[in-house]
Order: sequence, then structure tokens, then C-alpha cells
Amino acid sequence: MASRLHVADSRPEDWVYVSEGGATIVFSYRGTENPHFQGRVLRLRKTALSNNDTGHSVEEEPDDPMIAFQRDVISCIVPQAFLPDLDVILLNESWLGAIECLRNSDRPQERWKKDKIDKRRRKGVLATNLVGGEGIVAVEIKPKWGFLPREHHLSPQTVSTKTSTCRFCMHTYLRSQEGAFPTDYCPMDLYSRNETRMVKAIHDLWNAWVRSDGSLNNFRIFVSGKVIKPSHHDFHDVPIGPPDTGVSSSFNSGFIKETLMENLMRLLLDTRVLDIISTLQRTLDELDIEGLSKLCSMSKADLASMVAGPTPEDWRDFIRCYQTSYCTWDHANPDPKNIKHYLMAYLLSATFKDCSIILRFNQGGGSLSSHSVSIIDLDPKPMNKLGEWEELDRRIVEGYRAGGQQKRCAP
Ligand SMILES: [Zn+2]
Repeated sequence: MASRLHVADSRPEDWVYVSEGGATIVFSYRGTENPHFQGRVLRLRKTALSNNDTGHSVEEEPDDPMIAFQRDVISCIVPQAFLPDLDVILLNESWLGAIECLRNSDRPQERWKKDKIDKRRRKGVLATNLVGGEGIVAVEIKPKWGFLPREHHLSPQTVSTKTSTCRFCMHTYLRSQEGAFPTDYCPMDLYSRNETRMVKAIHDLWNAWVRSDGSLNNFRIFVSGKVIKPSHHDFHDVPIGPPDTGVSSSFNSGFIKETLMENLMRLLLDTRVLDIISTLQRTLDELDIEGLSKLCSMSKADLASMVAGPTPEDWRDFIRCYQTSYCTWDHANPDPKNIKHYLMAYLLSATFKDCSIILRFNQGGGSLSSHSVSIIDLDPKPMNKLGEWEELDRRIVEGYRAGGQQKRCAP
């Protein structure tokens, strides 16, 4: 695209609320006037409600880090076909104020009570709208950690637990102790390539979605671009299924569930996406946070003091290393001189542990070519999280062992 896109070339009322995560909020274009925006979503950064909107004007704001990160890092290790197109879009404060007025009431209460659109930003991200399109059903799954760590660097206290129960199941236990909705979902089932276990994983995601009325962030269903909740009245009229049956409404949820499961399984068995994600998670996290912490102490540093994030040049250098020598290193005996690359590998692994996949299909099935699978939310993670992650890992494992839990998550 020759000239830069400007959000003010569209009307705020042509954008509708889709969803949001901790750091960003997403709107999709419903207008007809600007072909550049059709089939695309606008991704805006958020800021805490307490943050003042004034007094911070950056003339030369860099592009959203997600764009450079996808271009320089992610696209070197993930096939392009799985990645949405991302472009920079210029923003202005009054336009952002207008869309906030229009759409704030569409956001979940627990979100708008906490944060808002960051109206000081001058650049946002325009991305492929993977959930939109009339009659399109899209399912977002956050698969989470798909591997068990190797035992090399685990302490005698944690080794038996960490090598038999997956990280997600241990974390689920801790969260349920703290009052969160329990879920039977185990990522190891979803990643297993075993059809029976994969079906179980999807059923478990579905059941947790129903029990929590869609409030868990690891499973979301969109129909024609709109997120669907189990309790929505219109959910029971969602035409997921063969359109030529003559039954256009009143599908019972059992039928919808079975049809959706069938479509999801067809897509998941036909794609390498889960293999790609789990392989990256595992190979980028060879040491486990425990081994990383030990290596750091050998280098006279500690994880909590790691704050300076890698530069774009650091990332390019790391990718070169990852694609060449990294796989030949003896990870059981890591060399302290490679600490920087191990830290960056861990950060990148965290990105893949937290990404989502979007599985998209036309209602009523159709050929697989009209279906697609994409990976989203591949944001760079900040270095200053490492200390927090080390502490969380300790709490998760200690809580799990103290509770006398012994679930076995088969690889
Ligand atoms: Zn598990």
C-alpha cells in the first residue's frame, strides 16, 4: 500500500465492537464506502482508566511493535499462510473519542470499569478480519502450553510433578482454589494428534464455555462477526448446519454442538497449526523457567532484574541463531555465554504459549478450501515479566503439590 491509511477516512459508526484482551481492543468495519477497510479489523491499544489522556503527545510515534515483530520474527518461523495481514493505520484523538462514545457500552462491564482506548496513540493496527463475513462461523481457541518440560533443570521437589502434570492443568487447579471456573480441558489432549483425545479436548472446552457463559478466554464462538454467548437468546437460532435442511431456526444446542465439533475436528485434523505451535513452545523453552533462573545466577543476574527488552536487531540476531546453531547446543548443560539468547527464546516461547488460533468455516460445511486456520495474538512479551513468571511457576507447582493432586497429562 503506497500511502498510509488513516482511520479518519472512515466514519466511527462504521466500526463495531468485536472483542478485547488485556492490552488491546478490536473493532470490525461494517461500512461500504472504503474498500481499504473492508474485511478488516482495527486493533487499538488500551490504557488504565486512571491514566490522564493529556500531556503525552509523540510526534514520531513508532509503529505498533506487533507489526515489526510479526515481520521480523514471527514470519521467519511460522508459515505465512497462518498469519493475518497487518498494516499500520494512523489515528487521531477526536476520532478515537468518538468511537469510544459510540461503543463503550458494548464492552463487558469488567473491562470498561478498568481501562479505555488509549487516545494518545497516533498509530494502530489494521488486520485481516478473521471472524467476520456473513454466514461465517469462527471459533477462537487459546490452546496454551502443549508440552511437558524435560527433567534436566527441574529441582528434586518439582521434577515428578512437572513431568507428569501439564502446566495448564496445574494452573487450572490453582485458579479453581482461588474461585475461578474449573475446566477439564487439558491442552495435551488437543495437541495429541489422537482423534479421541482431541474430541475430548474440544468437548471440555465447550462444556467450560457453557458453564461459564462464555467468560473463559480460551474458547470463543463468532457467527457473522458477532461473539455468541451460551445464554444469548439468538444462540438457539444460530444457523450452524446445512442451510438446505429448511430448518433455519430453533436448532437445539445439542445439534449446534455436534455440527460445530465435526467442523472443528475436520479442520484440526487437516492442519499442522497445533504441531507448529507446540514445537515452537517446546524448543524455545528448553531450560524451563527453573533452568533459566539457574543460568541467570551463573551469569550473576537474577530474572526479576531483567528489564531491558530486546531491540529489533537483537531479534534478527536471535532468529539467525535459532535457525542455525541453537538446535545444536547442549541444552542439558547450557553455556552461560548464551544467556541472552536463552532469555529471548523463553520470551518468544511465552508468545506461543499465549497465542490463539482462529478456525473459520462456512455454515453447512463445504470444501476445506473455503475454510481457514490462522494464528493471532502473537505479541512480543516484555522482559520484565520474567521475574513474575518465575514466582507464578513456583506458586502453581507448590499449590498443586500441597493440594495432593496427581493428574497425569499424557504427552
Ligand atoms: Zn494437562
